[in-house]
Amino acid sequence: MNSDSIVTAAKQILAEETALFTGQRPRSQEIFDAPSSGFFNQVPQYWMRDWPMPFPVVISKATGSEVWDVDGNHAIDFCLGDSGAMFGHGPQPILNALAGASTLGLTTMLPSKDLTAVGQLLRATFGMSMWQVTATASDANRFAFRVARAVTGRKKILVFDGCYHGAADEALVDLVDGQTVARNGLLGQAVNLAETTVCIPFNDVPALEAALKEGDIACVVAEPVMTNCGMILPLPGFHKTLRELTRSHGTLLHIDETHTISTGYGGYTKVHGLEPDIFVVGKPVGGGIPVAVWGMTDDVASGFDAVRAANTGTGHSGIGTTLSGSALQLACLKACLEEVMTPEAHNTMNRLADAVETGFSAAIKRHELPWHVGRVGARLEIVFSPHPLLNASEAHEAANPTIQKALHTAFLNLGYLVTPFHNMVLVAPTTSEENVAGLVASFEKILDRMTKAA
Ligand code: PMP
Repeated sequence: MNSDSIVTAAKQILAEETALFTGQRPRSQEIFDAPSSGFFNQVPQYWMRDWPMPFPVVISKATGSEVWDVDGNHAIDFCLGDSGAMFGHGPQPILNALAGASTLGLTTMLPSKDLTAVGQLLRATFGMSMWQVTATASDANRFAFRVARAVTGRKKILVFDGCYHGAADEALVDLVDGQTVARNGLLGQAVNLAETTVCIPFNDVPALEAALKEGDIACVVAEPVMTNCGMILPLPGFHKTLRELTRSHGTLLHIDETHTISTGYGGYTKVHGLEPDIFVVGKPVGGGIPVAVWGMTDDVASGFDAVRAANTGTGHSGIGTTLSGSALQLACLKACLEEVMTPEAHNTMNRLADAVETGFSAAIKRHELPWHVGRVGARLEIVFSPHPLLNASEAHEAANPTIQKALHTAFLNLGYLVTPFHNMVLVAPTTSEENVAGLVASFEKILDRMTKAA
């Protein structure tokens, strides 16, 4: 199949579906046509305007795997707040925890009664020994980088090209012509990020070895499967080598499971037996409220203690925020770890994701498209390449914003919300078999149009 003709067909589909989208959403459009919301760019975060549609859908209700907009349109949600609602919108145990906060209080700058239970649940679920709580995964990564540098006495972190670890400056870099540079689009950056960060391709052992040999890398920060640049799977043995090399060079291994927690119970780390020194998980860990956690080994924790003891200054360390570790967060972490993020929930998600993978792969094959489905547990990505991606250069080459936007908008008009800026679908325990069958049938329909028109 000629990809130029697919792109031409995708352009046509995008134009038709955009018109349909707009016609069905007069109330959403009104909000954006009349700039009266008081919000910069009319949205609570300005990038919310970057979704593929001409204006964002304004949501009036979200529950389980379903969302409704202010115009009364309904969709099955496979975006799930891109992972914040990985276990469904408003799981009942989280709503109960929120109700309980009426007597517990929301925040006191003190630990709450759930402290010990949550600490034990974190250890049992993810395996790290010592934990801290933040409001977002961005914060957790930022604070963990700081600790890694303090503990090792080294200045730099190493990241993989195409990574995303949130709004932590050091990781917002790209690899361009072999050089680490600030990411195109990063605003207000004053520090030369080549001084704080080394960026290398994923799956590239010689580059990893060469970088670690310099002896100035505090930690390697990695998603176990790269999910923010298409989907890049580790080559067999890559994680084993990564662990051996980081250990032998005195560099800490920081695994960011914020998305790959979709793998199964305990995340990719537990399922595949990784041995990180630092572990981060945010987004769904409190069932959708703003909370993230980061864990350390005993060794890192005692190193942290030692640097704190040696630091005679008091007050601001650059780690922590007032609302982090609140009673509300601990109550929701407890509810989520005990009752929501369970092995059974992961099993249901994986079973349903099997059906999505089978259905999508069959549709791609039937339409003779040079694409495949990448997958990490309940998270699946339609990749516009016939073979698995090795690194970010291959991912950039495979990406096609026109096809991605056409798929997204057509899915939405058929009643399925998929993740923007990707071709990603995420399955929740609240997703039904019928939802999956409908999603797969919609994909078939869209591909029929894309290939027939081509
Ligand atoms: N880590 C990873 C792997 C992510 O994908 C993201 C966000 N997409 C973050 C961290 C940051 O999460 P947050 O935006 O909740 O801070």
